[in-house]
Amino acid sequence: MFRCQECLKVSKPHDSPKKLVTKTRQKEYFTEEGKTVRTAKGLPATGWEIVEEILVCEPCSLKERE
Ligand SMILES: [Zn+2]
Repeated sequence: MFRCQECLKVSKPHDSPKKLVTKTRQKEYFTEEGKTVRTAKGLPATGWEIVEEILVCEPCSLKERE
C-alpha cells in the first residue's frame, strides 16, 4: 500500500504505485574536455534529465497533464 502523492488517497492493498515524472530539465552533454557534444548534424546533443518524480495511483498516472 502507498499513498498517492497526487490525490493523496491510500491505494488498495495490492496496488503498486506508478512513477510519474513531474519535472524534467534539458541537459546538454559535454565531452571530457568540456566541449559540447554535437550530433551528426552539428547541433548540440541534448537530452532530458529527471528532476522530480512522484508515486501516484493508476487513475492519476493516466490523467492528462501539461
Ligand atoms: Zn491518485
